Amino acid sequence: MYWTSIREKTLDFTRIRTRVSRITVEYYSTVPINQPINGLICNLPNHATVPFFYADRRVGGLGTCRLTDDADIWTIARAAQLLTCRDPTVRNICREQLHDTIRRGFRNEHPGVLPVGEYLSGSVDGGLYRLRYAEAGSNLWTLARQAAKRLGVRIDVSGDENIRIVADDVSVSPVKAVRGLRKVARQRYTRDLISDKSHQGVVATGLSLEDKSKDMARLEQDTSCRRCGKENETGFHVLNHCEEGLQLATKRHNTIQDLLESLLVKQGHDVTINNAIPGQRLRPDVEFQLSGSRVMVDVVVCFDQPGSMENAYQRKYDKYSSHGRILPLVVGSLGSWYPRNDEIRSILGINGRSWGAFRFRARLAAIQGSMDMVCAHFHHGAPNPEAEDIPPLPVEIPYPVD
Ligand SMILES: [Zn+2]
Repeated sequence: MYWTSIREKTLDFTRIRTRVSRITVEYYSTVPINQPINGLICNLPNHATVPFFYADRRVGGLGTCRLTDDADIWTIARAAQLLTCRDPTVRNICREQLHDTIRRGFRNEHPGVLPVGEYLSGSVDGGLYRLRYAEAGSNLWTLARQAAKRLGVRIDVSGDENIRIVADDVSVSPVKAVRGLRKVARQRYTRDLISDKSHQGVVATGLSLEDKSKDMARLEQDTSCRRCGKENETGFHVLNHCEEGLQLATKRHNTIQDLLESLLVKQGHDVTINNAIPGQRLRPDVEFQLSGSRVMVDVVVCFDQPGSMENAYQRKYDKYSSHGRILPLVVGSLGSWYPRNDEIRSILGINGRSWGAFRFRARLAAIQGSMDMVCAHFHHGAPNPEAEDIPPLPVEIPYPVD
């Protein structure tokens, strides 16, 4: 069911995300603290206004989604979708849980008719200001209420079976909530950019005079890789396929290999690294003996699509299996963990704690290495950001702070 699919088996990813954001901050610690990190990733001067990143491309914005907004949008959408789910069991359980949450928020001194729509819309009218989140605990419904409040979204439940999600001039059904609310967010940033008093706002105002065509969004016609020019510049190409990124990709691979080596050494295995198999040109990353026969572990960092991971696993298997037992270790460039990696743990009898620590570090190393690759890619041809002089702020233009 929905609940089990959103609940991760491990907390790896939550923890990795925290670590990664800390690393990002450390990486950029040489720049002023109030400069949006986005600006650095996009190689923009530090006076780029915040709405510029999220405004419509037709007025010259970048048209990206703000992650904090997106998190709220998905929360609201999922809550509304569950309440209108076609499966009556799921729908009724969700509605009952929502009602129960509201009643407990009122400490059981609730009005005869529960203000469901007002509650979900984050309203404080009609006694709702008395709600105590602590009493109700935290669940999807309290989160949806907070998200709606932050985004200024109204959830209209007057049609009972027919919930509408309303914000500004947009009114959508739950299935179309994500699209509709992203549009609302983009429109708001577009308005902010146009009303910005800096020269960026002035340009956006000029561009907004003609907003029927998509000319401005189509200006960039060349989508090929800015470094090698050989393929489209996609995440897959930059992180796994661009020959210009090979050096950093090797570094990313070797970091994981080093982690694996120290794990196996700690487990008491006598390992050799990058040693050629006698009479062969093959050099498995790590090799050791187990009950008298050769075991090889070969690390591969590949694209995070399940198909790519399966292929990577199979390729390693085909390459080495005639020379002993091969245990491929497949990690996604954005931190995915191929389930068969855990066979290494069971075959070598590694305890859960050591294996868990290794898995965490290996995934973190993959993400960290990929971040270095992305940074190197975007800064290609540009001066080294750390050596770059921060351009002086133009006078009398207000300085936005993210
Ligand atoms: Zn390339």
